[in-house]
This record gives sequence, C-alpha cells and structure tokens, in this order.
Amino acid sequence: MADLIVDGDQLDGVLGSLNFEKTSCPHCGSVYFVRYGRTRIGRQRYSCRECRKTFSETTGTPFMYSKKTLRTWAGYLFCMGGGLTLRQISKALGMNLSTAFSWRHKILSVAVTKTDTVLTETIEVNEFWLKENFKGCRRINPHFRDAENRCPILMLSCRDSQGNIMLRAATRKGLRKLEYADISDILGPVIKRCKMLVTTSNLSYVSFAKKKHLRLCMPYSASYRRPGFSLRNAEIQARGFKGFLKRFRSVASKYLSHYMNWYRIMLNRSGSLTAEIMDMLSSRPRMLTVYDLKNVQFDGTLRQ
Ligand SMILES: [Zn+2]
Repeated sequence: MADLIVDGDQLDGVLGSLNFEKTSCPHCGSVYFVRYGRTRIGRQRYSCRECRKTFSETTGTPFMYSKKTLRTWAGYLFCMGGGLTLRQISKALGMNLSTAFSWRHKILSVAVTKTDTVLTETIEVNEFWLKENFKGCRRINPHFRDAENRCPILMLSCRDSQGNIMLRAATRKGLRKLEYADISDILGPVIKRCKMLVTTSNLSYVSFAKKKHLRLCMPYSASYRRPGFSLRNAEIQARGFKGFLKRFRSVASKYLSHYMNWYRIMLNRSGSLTAEIMDMLSSRPRMLTVYDLKNVQFDGTLRQ
C-alpha cells in the first residue's frame, strides 16, 4: 500500500524544486561566507567569515536536527496529503510512532504562520460548533472533565465569491453568541473590497455590516433575506472540515488551528501539497521545539 502512495519520481521532482541555498549567515546575518565541505549526511556546509561559525543549508529550519533525509520528509508529506494514518505512515517510512506524531505538528504549525487570508467581494460567513476535546491535555481544570460541562468551540467557516477560504476558531466561552467586538476582531483584518456579507441570523453582524458599509444578507432571517444569496458554500465547507477531523478519530483542541490550516491547504493548493509545505518548512526562520508544541492554544497562538 505504501509504495502506491509514495511515488519515487514525483518525490524527486519535489526535492529538485526546493531551494535550500543560504543568502546570509543564520548566526550573525553576514553575507560573507564560503562553502566548507559537507555534513555527515551529505548536506552542504558553509563557514562564515565574520563570526567563524559553520552552518548548513538546513540550519534554522525544522530539518536542522533531523537525522532523517529530506526525502523522508517529503515522503511523509506525501503520505499525509494522501490521508494515511500515523500508524500507516510510520510503517511506510520506517519511523516510530512518536516521531510521526511530532512531525505532523511541526508541519502543521508551519502552515499556521503562513496564513494570510484575504476575503473579498461577496463573503459567506457560517457559524458551526465543534466539541471541545481535551485529549493530550494534562493540566485540565477538573470542572471540564465532566462531559456535560465541556464547552464547545464556535467556529467560523468563511468563503468568498473568489474561492478564498478561512476557517477560524472564534470563541470557546460557552454557548454565548458572537458579539460585535468578536466579529470585528476576526473579520475586520481579512476583508478587503468586500461588498456583500452573507451570514447567520446573529444580529451582531448587522452592526458590523453597517460599520464596514457592507450590504447584508441573512438567508435564515425574514427581514434580511435576499434572492440569489445563500450560505451554501460556507456550510459545505464546515461539513467538509468536520468530516476531515473524523479521519483522525479525535483531535486535541489545542491543535485545532493546525488541522484548520492543513484543511485549507488541501482545498486551496495550487500545486503539489508536498512541494508547498517543504518550501514553507525550509524557509521557516527558526526551529519549532517540542516545548512550543505543548503551548499551542486552540486558536493557534502560543501560551505565554
Ligand atoms: Zn556569521
């Protein structure tokens, strides 16, 4: 099964298109450096003329301390894009399960930093709920251990008429409605040249639309309904994301933003998922540590 998914020729193409060339020293920023042999696993090494330190093409990227080859990383992304489970991936690539798990989150956290969504023209904004999940969370408030008290997360599924998409965790503060300030915080920075907002019947969107001079349509409200506009695409997208999460049996909510980005990349990719993420990983300014991962919160920010 594994060899069906990881196609050697395609992998070579992906690896060939990656650029690991350094333009400055990652230690001091100097542009005066020379080639200085190869590392033990065959990566190009450089020596800086100013700080005298050596570095390689992967210094400062998540590949830096990895003993696995870039080919293995690309193979991993390939399997991930093909929807293989962690167990299947670890078998296919001969790595242990915990490595497979940490790679998933290294990869997904990179996708988070590259999120620069813009929504334009006609925007559909649908709200949906996800059940809170505390898998892998040790220091949990005992109050939330009781299934009845778990707060669900309110999600926004947004899609514009140009096909741009955004999924965002909006709030986890119990079953309250989104207020004007929440909506403004989330949608304010991403809408550009927007003309029409199509959304749920929450009246907080009315004040947001007024402030931003947007025409407003609420398909489920008699007074704001407009012919020809619906929330169909945003609703399909929300259902698609829920289905996508089911693949993983259960997703810790602190990693939710990682999965949202993964889903977004899968829907929106222009080229190969593998090439795109390998490129993001290799241009990441610093190593993401295991410590960082433990502190990722449900909306993708790091706990201080
Ligand atoms: Zn230097």
